[in-house]
Amino acid sequence: MPEDKDASLDQERASTLTCPDCHTDLALPTGRGRGAWRCPRCDRQLSGAWTLKPDSLLALSVATAFLWVPALTLPLLRLENLGLDNSASLLDCTVALLQGVYLPAGVLLLFTLLTMPLANLIAVSRLLWAAREHMPVHSPRWMQVYRLSREWAMTDIFLLGILISMTKLGDLATVKPGAGIVCLGLAVLLRLIVETLAQPDQLQRLMDQQAREVADAR
Ligand SMILES: [Zn+2]
Repeated sequence: MPEDKDASLDQERASTLTCPDCHTDLALPTGRGRGAWRCPRCDRQLSGAWTLKPDSLLALSVATAFLWVPALTLPLLRLENLGLDNSASLLDCTVALLQGVYLPAGVLLLFTLLTMPLANLIAVSRLLWAAREHMPVHSPRWMQVYRLSREWAMTDIFLLGILISMTKLGDLATVKPGAGIVCLGLAVLLRLIVETLAQPDQLQRLMDQQAREVADAR
């Protein structure tokens, strides 16, 4: 009977997974074991160490979005040397770089520090909202943008750079951290938590499973 065959195929698809990198068919882990699940053949991470909770991750994404505004506009550092006092926000730095001879660096900063983190935030919020509401996401673009922006959003590296330069500049001038760097630090921390817990493959599987449940209920 074709319907029985379809149902058993669906069941099989629900209990196995093809590794996206090496295309090995793997059985989904049954128990709630601890630790991340990796492909035994190519070591690709297939799911995070924790269960995916769209509700709380969506809340963290919204908090990140609110933190981004002061992180961009408030001064990152205040530099004082021989009576000269200077401070700049992340937005000021990017605009200044885009105008001078450092245009390529400015474009890179704009891409890795503003465009990609923003795309990441929008894409992950869209996907988590869909998972929370059990709504199918029809366009595969959202997942593609999420995967791509995870690679290219480099706010954490920028933050590390600022902290290193603060210690180096400490010998030459008085460096005081501004409110912007605190907000940026918190935004980076929240983004890393969301990215660690919302692994793309795991999120995709959750949405596929929800789509199957919706189809079965009809
Ligand atoms: Zn693999």
